[in-house]
Amino acid sequence: MPQVSPQVERMPRSGIRKIMDAAWASGKPFVGMHVGEPDFIPPKHVLDAGSAAYLEGQTHYVSNVGIPELRAALADKLARVNRLEVTPDQIAVTASGTEALFAAYSAILTAGDEVLIPDPGWPNYTMAMEMLQCGAVPYRLEPEHDFVPQIDALDALVTERTRAILVNSPSNPLGTVYSAETLEALVRFAERHDIWLISDECYDALTFGVEHVSPAVFDTKGLVISTFSFSKTYAMTGVRVGYLVGSPELLSVVGKLQETILACVNTPAQLAAVAALTGPQDCVEEMRSAYERRRDLAVAELDRLSIPYVRPDGAFYLWIDVTELAGDLPVDDWALRLLEEERVAVAPGSTFGASGEGWVRLALAASDEEILAGIAGIGRMLAA
Ligand code: PLP
Repeated sequence: MPQVSPQVERMPRSGIRKIMDAAWASGKPFVGMHVGEPDFIPPKHVLDAGSAAYLEGQTHYVSNVGIPELRAALADKLARVNRLEVTPDQIAVTASGTEALFAAYSAILTAGDEVLIPDPGWPNYTMAMEMLQCGAVPYRLEPEHDFVPQIDALDALVTERTRAILVNSPSNPLGTVYSAETLEALVRFAERHDIWLISDECYDALTFGVEHVSPAVFDTKGLVISTFSFSKTYAMTGVRVGYLVGSPELLSVVGKLQETILACVNTPAQLAAVAALTGPQDCVEEMRSAYERRRDLAVAELDRLSIPYVRPDGAFYLWIDVTELAGDLPVDDWALRLLEEERVAVAPGSTFGASGEGWVRLALAASDEEILAGIAGIGRMLAA
């Protein structure tokens, strides 16, 4: 076989995938808390709109940056929910939050550039940097600073090759939600160093008693690129629609990229997304409050078992400290042992960066029974 791309070959395999494979390979039932996938389905009016689009033959190529109805509905949503006053020409519809991020990187990066990436953070950020032959420079989110980025530590990481900082609030895997002050300080940091700030707001609708603030509200220089998704807000993971928001100049570059990468986003999926935004929003609140209730249930159980964790104010994850439980065992191996002995699948923290060693992430996109069974399994490992 001729050679495949060496940078793609070098990309590490996700630790979550290893757990998944081990769980399936065993052929035995298990409690799945390893994957961040909502256990809901999209509301019926969204499914109807997507199906109707197929049946009516609305199946042709459309604009590279999205159909006008969707971009107009997104401009309304961004004003209503995120307090961002943007025109439709500042919005590109993308085939998911993942693709919005990839379009953002591709629009601004050249091989050899560096991007400051949260550690712990979503593994996809590092994988994409590897693919683009750029350097992912981790910035630590530490317990002693409530997992909030420290500006002086960030200053020390900037080199002449730094092109962007990636910010993720609400955070996967931590569930932390940054305050307006922190986000404003991050925008000023980016301004001071003349770098881009990519804001991954995939979980913008999922906060518990705190407000999600979009860093772009503090942007006066057009350096914030915000990415969003329909996946978690409307449980539309497999529909694959997201969007990117930036300055009109940046958006003209993104339009060219979309042409190259995918021509346009699936037209019925875009029409389903219009229905999601313009239809009743009760489903968003119903799912949000379900995740909040599960968070409360899970933390009460962890408190009862004296298992330390980071209390999440958003997203649907729980970041649990298992250093005491795992001892000297690498957390990857500990997670495999938890699967073998207790039939509980969790995401090992090392998947999310070096600072995740000794931690695991539980996804609360599971039923109450599964959450209680999963934590009980961890508790039994503790007792053993
Ligand atoms: N960003 C974060 C932090 C995520 O956790 C995810 C998905 O899990 C995404 C972006 C991308 O989601 P999607 O590609 O489904 O829109």
